[in-house]
Amino acid sequence: MTKKTVLKSAFFEGSKRDILIVDNRFEKVHTALEPADYQDAEIVDCSNFAIMPAFYNGHTHAAMSLLRGFADDMELGKWLNEYIWPTEAKLTPDDIEVGSRLAILEMIKSGTVFFTDMYWHRERTIKVVEEMGIRAAIGVTFAEPLMSPEAWAANVDFLKNHTGESERVQLVVMPHAIYTVGEEKTAELIELAHAEHYKIHTHLSETLFEIKTCNEKYGCTPVEFWKRLGGLNSNFSAAHCVHFSASDRKIFAESGATAILNPCSNLKLSSGMPQVAEMLKDGLKLGLGTDGDSSNNNLDMQEEMKAIALLAKYLGTAETLPAEEALKMATCNVANFFGINAGKIEEGYLADCLLIDMNNERMVPCYNVYSNWVYAANSSAIDSVMCNGKFVMRGRHVDGEEEILREARECAARLSK
Ligand SMILES: [Zn+2]
Repeated sequence: MTKKTVLKSAFFEGSKRDILIVDNRFEKVHTALEPADYQDAEIVDCSNFAIMPAFYNGHTHAAMSLLRGFADDMELGKWLNEYIWPTEAKLTPDDIEVGSRLAILEMIKSGTVFFTDMYWHRERTIKVVEEMGIRAAIGVTFAEPLMSPEAWAANVDFLKNHTGESERVQLVVMPHAIYTVGEEKTAELIELAHAEHYKIHTHLSETLFEIKTCNEKYGCTPVEFWKRLGGLNSNFSAAHCVHFSASDRKIFAESGATAILNPCSNLKLSSGMPQVAEMLKDGLKLGLGTDGDSSNNNLDMQEEMKAIALLAKYLGTAETLPAEEALKMATCNVANFFGINAGKIEEGYLADCLLIDMNNERMVPCYNVYSNWVYAANSSAIDSVMCNGKFVMRGRHVDGEEEILREARECAARLSK
């Protein structure tokens, strides 16, 4: 049976509107509703709310929520080798499920309905995504030093058999990075992604150490490495992209690939700053991600949006990256890369949205709602979150949240023993 919802008197683009959602799509946004549109519809009073696109997190490691605050105040190499990788080796599939649940709770509460996940035991993360009602691009992750040949082959088989995909979940080929997957294996994964029609996502040009080792081993930059192997195209996206040369930016822009910037994680790990003003000038496709909870240390896309807008102005001029453009980096730009018709409040688009409380002190006064949302507000202004036409948070409550926190605390206590 068709499900109808009317968001009544929502503040949108400067005026109050009634917005009709039929099943999982926006049916009427710009046109006035007819009396028949209200029939059999759930009417949601939005007279105190502005409607905003929900967030699409272009890069994270969801279950690392369990390692939030576990090791801080050190650079990436030491952080990974001495703290993160040895502890991750102890994580069981059950732990991954608990961590994914905590991460998705945090994402929903901060307005995110989609995430790109690079991690292990993906079947458990997929299960939690399905249960909690949001979307994800789940990585089938490859890293030579962290995997047996049998585990590698099992991942390849999994991708060939296309198991795990659904209406809200897609699989993505994810070589971890240039320093964990060599030339031969990277070439094989590019061929596999091409043959099986998957997108590729990886960490790229994150630190100066990566640039130096890539140059010593392959005589080129990480971007040139991917170009040489034929992997750089509109189906390729990369996280970080901090240390791009002028030539890298040109190559990347021409390829149609998408750069997912993670400014908070880069700043915290002292990896450097993505040259966002130059990237915009050179016409790169740009999205945003948070990276994991243990390097950020949250999954709040609103903070990331503000950080990139400020960084763009610091590196460019006060006019670089206006609020609405920063919002696109956190919403439709990421959805576009993954082929998801979402990230905008538009007729025909998937019904993913946020209801922002206009009585929140940071939304008052309201000369420009996008200005308030990008520069002034935080996630406490989000009253409700809708994904695929269904509310996953209402009145700031998510079903089962108390139990999710209890399980996460117990799991973290076991890990720290
Ligand atoms: Zn990452």
